[in-house]
Amino acid sequence: MNVSVVGSGYVGTTLAACLADLGHDVTAIDVDETTVERLNAGETTIHEPGLDPLVSAYAGGRLRATTDHAAAADTDLTVLAVGTPATPDGSIDASILLAAAEDLGEAIAEADGYHLVVVKSTVLPDVLEDELVPAIEAASGKTDGEGFGVAANPEFLREGSAVRDFMEPDKIVIGTAGDERALDRLAELYQPLISDWDIPVVETGRREAAMVKYANNAFLAAKVSLINDIGNVCKEFDVDAYEVADAIGLDSRISGEFLRSGVGWGGSCFPKDTAALVAGAESAGYEPTMIEAAIERNDRQPERLLELLDRHVDVDSRRVAVLGLAFKPGTDDVRGTRATPVIEGLLERGAEVVAYDPRAADAMAEVFPDIEYADSAAAALAGAHAAAVVTDWPEFADLDEAFDAMADPVVVDGRRIVERRRGITYEGLTW
Ligand code: NAD
Repeated sequence: MNVSVVGSGYVGTTLAACLADLGHDVTAIDVDETTVERLNAGETTIHEPGLDPLVSAYAGGRLRATTDHAAAADTDLTVLAVGTPATPDGSIDASILLAAAEDLGEAIAEADGYHLVVVKSTVLPDVLEDELVPAIEAASGKTDGEGFGVAANPEFLREGSAVRDFMEPDKIVIGTAGDERALDRLAELYQPLISDWDIPVVETGRREAAMVKYANNAFLAAKVSLINDIGNVCKEFDVDAYEVADAIGLDSRISGEFLRSGVGWGGSCFPKDTAALVAGAESAGYEPTMIEAAIERNDRQPERLLELLDRHVDVDSRRVAVLGLAFKPGTDDVRGTRATPVIEGLLERGAEVVAYDPRAADAMAEVFPDIEYADSAAAALAGAHAAAVVTDWPEFADLDEAFDAMADPVVVDGRRIVERRRGITYEGLTW
C-alpha cells in the first residue's frame, strides 16, 4: 500500500519504519525540518531499540520523509500520529492534531477517490467526533464516509520496546463509523502482521476505539499506583512487597505484570491520558475518583522517596546523586519522569544535584540546565552524600565498588535495582 504518516515522533517514526518493513511504501510527514532531513539520511531523532537499522535500511527507498502535507494526497491512507499533549488543567490540547487534520484535509481536497484517515494519536471520543472529523470535512470540502473515511486505531506500543510492540501487538483495535472501505484498507495495512502472528483484531465503533486507549492506560496506571500503595503499607509493616507481589501475581485475575512497586509511573502517556480522562469526565459531570486516586498516589511517591532520604541525611549544601532520568529504561524520553519531582525536591532542600543517565541527560539538561550531569554512575556517586535511584537501568545493578567512593553511602532505591551490599545504608522505597 501507499501510506503516509503525519508526525515523526516516537509513534510516527516507529510506525513509518515498521510499515516500510511490512512492505508498504511510506511517506513520513513532519513539520520539523531536522527530523525530516535526518529521516531521509537514514537516521532518527529519537532513541528506540531496533529503530535505527529499519530507518537506515528503508530511507530513500520504501521510506521517504517530507515537510509537505500535500504528499498525503497521493497515498491510499494517512495515519495521524502527532502529539496530543495536556493543557495545564489536564484537559487534552487538540490544537496540534486539529492543525494536522486541517493540512491533511486541504491535501486531499483535490484528490480523486476515497482516502482513509487513521487516527493513531490518543484522543477523547468527543474531540474525535466533534472536532477532528469536522476539521477534515471543512478543509477538504468532502463528507466523512463519502470522499474520505476516518478510523480510530489507537496505538499501544511502549517506548523502549516500540518496534517489537508494533510488530507483535497484543491486539489491534479498529474503530469505524460502520464504513466497510475503512475496514478493508486497515485489514490490508495490517495483513502481514495479522497473518504472521494471529493477532486479535477488535472491530468496534470509533468512539469505543478511542476510549479503549484511555481505559487501557487508566487501568495500567491504577494497577501500578495500587501496588505502590500496597508497597508503602508493606514497608510500614516490615514486609517484603516484592515477595507479596510475586505471590499475588500468580492469581490469573491479577497477572504478574506491572507489580513492581516503586517511585511511580511517568512518560508521555500515563500522566497526560489519565489527566485528560479525569478532565473529560468532570466536564461531562462525573468525578472518576479511582483514576484521581491513582494520579494522587503517583504524585506522592517521589516525595516519599525524599522523606526516606531525609531520615538519613540532611542534604542541604550536600552533593546528592540522582541515578536515572529517563521515565523508564531503554528510552531517552524524560516526559513525565519521576526524576523531575525528585530533583525539584532535592533543589528545594538545598542539595547540589549531580545527575546521571545513560541516554536521557541531554533531554533533562533542557529541563534542569543548572544541575551537574556526570558521564557515568560512578562519577555521579563519587563524593556524594546520598543517592536516589529513579530509573531501573540494568547497569545500576552492577555498581558495587562505585558506592565506596561516596562521602556518605546512603542509597534510596526507588526501583529495587541496586544490590544491597555491606558498607552502604540502603533504603528500598517500598520494601
Ligand atoms: P511526539 O511528540 O514524539 O511526536 C509528534 C511529532 O509530530 C513531532 O515530531 C512533531 O514535530 C510532529 N508534528 C507536530 N505537528 C505536526 C503537523 N501539523 N504535521 C506533521 N507533524 C507534526 O509524540 P509521540 O510520543 O509519538 O505521540 C504521538 C501520539 O501517539 C500522541 O497522541 C500520544 O498520546 C500517542 N501515543 C504515544 C505513545 C508513546 O509511547 N509515545 C504510545 C501510544 C500512543
